[in-house]
Amino acid sequence: MAQDTRNSRLHPETLLAHGGGGFDPATGAVTPPVPTATTFVRDEAYELISPSHLYSRDDNTLFRKTEDLIATLENGQESRLFASGMAAVAAVARIVKPGGTILLQSGIYWGTTLFLRKHCERNGIALVESDAADLQSFADDITVSQPDLVWIEVPSNPYLKVADIRGISEHCKPVGAVLAVDATAATPLVLKPLDLGADLVMHSATKALNGHSDLLGGVVTTRDKDSDAWTFIREERKLAGAVMGSFEAWLLLRGLRTLGLRVERMNANALALAEFLETHPKIEKVLYPGLASHKAHTLAAGQMSGGYGSLMSILVKGSKEEALKAVGDLNVFQRATSLGGVESLVEHRYTIEGEESGIPGNMLRLSVGIEHLGDLKADLDQALAEI
Ligand SMILES: *Cc1c(COP(=O)(O)O)cnc(C)c1O
Repeated sequence: MAQDTRNSRLHPETLLAHGGGGFDPATGAVTPPVPTATTFVRDEAYELISPSHLYSRDDNTLFRKTEDLIATLENGQESRLFASGMAAVAAVARIVKPGGTILLQSGIYWGTTLFLRKHCERNGIALVESDAADLQSFADDITVSQPDLVWIEVPSNPYLKVADIRGISEHCKPVGAVLAVDATAATPLVLKPLDLGADLVMHSATKALNGHSDLLGGVVTTRDKDSDAWTFIREERKLAGAVMGSFEAWLLLRGLRTLGLRVERMNANALALAEFLETHPKIEKVLYPGLASHKAHTLAAGQMSGGYGSLMSILVKGSKEEALKAVGDLNVFQRATSLGGVESLVEHRYTIEGEESGIPGNMLRLSVGIEHLGDLKADLDQALAEI
């Protein structure tokens, strides 16, 4: 029988490898087909032939399978896939109505920051930006601003700050704020924000969940499927229509099959590179929560298990020019934005975000892939030797 993954006691790696629930009981197929139909017929009495098949903006067998798998990984009750990570961010943001307040962690993913600034301004929503890594001051901001939604990113991109999810959630509850965590840089295998008191967890599935840099997607998972926030988000996905395409859902489910292996390798490579770079004479500082020298290492170690993610930032000794020189000399690391793919990427965020962002000119963000560690080390070493 096809296995019900929701009640399964199997480990996440096993559920992932099986694509979230065994073979198709009708055909025995080990992998699911791509459902291409957008609409489904009714019988002579005008009853749907299959009650869960009406129109594919509402639902789709492959979305459901993928969503159930992700909900299980997150220890959540329900998930919804979106057409991109930003479509997922937007659906969550829209739970706040004009006149409401959003408290946003400062210095996080630039797309989220830009979107929320514009969205709040256009819709008469107050936006407060504050450093969530400082629990006491962030807690004060929650108490003073009484937000409807608190948005944090753990670990944050590109500064790799680590917010205390449990600590923040305890301050959200008394004011009735919904706590949403973007855990894209961690993956559900190493960080489960819902277990730490968050209400919602969001991922850009474009990144490590798919892992092959070949689709755009987003996903939100809830701790409580009957909450007002989730009722709204579920309805918004269907009505606003930012649904994932079936081909993308199929690719995502295929990518997820190897998530366990990829995360293990990427996280091990990242930690080894962070340790190597930390003592490198051309490096001023490495920002990576797996390092004992990281400000929030103990907190990260308590919140995460099985690794610290594949994202890190490094500050090279020198200025913007030295950083750009080093980046130009890399051969294995590809110069491109994004993260979480099997291939290692490097980015000079200052060039993208500009001076007003406050990003240091000598900062490089690395997304570490699954390549041989020796090749990654040698590539960084030769590029840094040139500056
Ligand atoms: C990429 C990213 C997003 C946005 O996701 P898209 O799939 O590009 O729309 C949001 N948050 C984080 C942390 C990201 O890295």
